Amino acid sequence: MRYLSTRGAAPALGFEDVLLAGLAPDGGLYLPETWPRLSATDLKRAASAPYAETAARVLAPFVGAAVAPADLARLCAESYAGFDHPAVAPLVQLDHGLWLLELFHGPTLAFKDLAMQLLGRLYDHVLRRRGQRIVVVAATSGDTGSAAIEACRGRESIALYVLHPLGRVSEVQRRQMTTVTDANIRNIAVEGSFDDCQDLVKGLFADLPFRQEMRLSAVNSINWARIAAQVVYYVTAAAALGAPERAVSFAVPTGNFGNAYAAYAARAMGLPVERLVVASNRNDILACFFASGEMAIGAVEPSLSPSMDIQVSSNFERLLFDLYDRDGAAVAGAMASLRRDGRLLVGEGRWRRATEIFSGFRLDDPGTLMAIKQSHDATGSLIDPHSAVAVAAAKAALKSGAAAPMVVLATAHPAKFPDTVERATGRRPELPAYLAGLMQRPERVQVLPNDLAAVRDFIAGIEGGRGGA
Ligand SMILES: *Cc1c(COP(=O)(O)O)cnc(C)c1O
Repeated sequence: MRYLSTRGAAPALGFEDVLLAGLAPDGGLYLPETWPRLSATDLKRAASAPYAETAARVLAPFVGAAVAPADLARLCAESYAGFDHPAVAPLVQLDHGLWLLELFHGPTLAFKDLAMQLLGRLYDHVLRRRGQRIVVVAATSGDTGSAAIEACRGRESIALYVLHPLGRVSEVQRRQMTTVTDANIRNIAVEGSFDDCQDLVKGLFADLPFRQEMRLSAVNSINWARIAAQVVYYVTAAAALGAPERAVSFAVPTGNFGNAYAAYAARAMGLPVERLVVASNRNDILACFFASGEMAIGAVEPSLSPSMDIQVSSNFERLLFDLYDRDGAAVAGAMASLRRDGRLLVGEGRWRRATEIFSGFRLDDPGTLMAIKQSHDATGSLIDPHSAVAVAAAKAALKSGAAAPMVVLATAHPAKFPDTVERATGRRPELPAYLAGLMQRPERVQVLPNDLAAVRDFIAGIEGGRGGA
């Protein structure tokens, strides 16, 4: 399997190079040259096979010769062994024709564990074989940081630096990061916003001598391996509900569009997906796009579903690549105009093609609280604010004629957002037993100013002592 850049000006690469590179050198995102096909037999098997087995089967064509089949099977088995539900991603029925796909049974209680647990192991496998070490830097507004930390802790081939905005993540989210004190994990609290953290990471990557010396790598959802790993649960959910004979629709709480794009990829591989509902909070740039065909960037506004507080969804570029008939130069032009003018019009025909599959939905904070409460009243169970936005989206889509079954992706455990859930229902969700000691454990964190040199010197100070990369 070879991978192309969405901007068409970088050489095609194999899986191993795409895994380690993250972003393509022309600024584009990698995606597969052709889509592997899921056979009817694959789907029937997925209805009853253990999750890790389906994962290895779905991922094999993406990975190609980079990882031997027996190694891939072992890495998948190890990745999901620590989940606190034997089904890994169980389906729970909410209502007639409406299901919740619980993706929060991993070590950090958010769906990012499903891809990150595998990504950490793939990195380690490939780097050990090469005898190399990499430095991973990640900016987080909450969930990505802890998922990356749990996936990389204790791995000698990886040093991980996570930047979060000082005082702007929830206490549970912060402690999930700062109470991990393995030598290869460092938390940096930046005196600034999440955007400042992201700019600092970009600044580190733009410093080419530093980037090469440290062998910097990125673990956010621009990394193809994360998208590939997310295809798996769409397959297991659809298979459990009757694919290939019966089609399924999904409602996805969306920020960077990585999860929603993985659903699109599953469909491209032959999964019978009828409709994909992209659920947004007040940061509704995607909902506006699917309603009008125009994308217009505004300011990011904080909401009760902070992991979706994003204006420019990086993975949307992967969808544009297909809408522009895989013409990399045209995608590069579209991205340049979006950056220059803050808006992008894709044209009537492309917009219609996108809306054959996707529809958008937007829910504000009062609506989110209402959706958490309604769900609790109806089922007695608690859902987190991100999942709640998608439950409301799914119900609206079913009302306007979308085919059942409709599956809502539950992307976080309610205990990750206890204040919001308590405000909506009067009930405070409890952390699972294995995290119960979280609020008492000692923390380690380095506070740094919003200053590129300070962050670079901090990393160099630690890595330099070990001879860098
Ligand atoms: C990251 C995250 C999202 C957004 O997922 P994308 O793939 O970036 O669209 C939604 N919900 C939760 C809880 C998350 O952590």
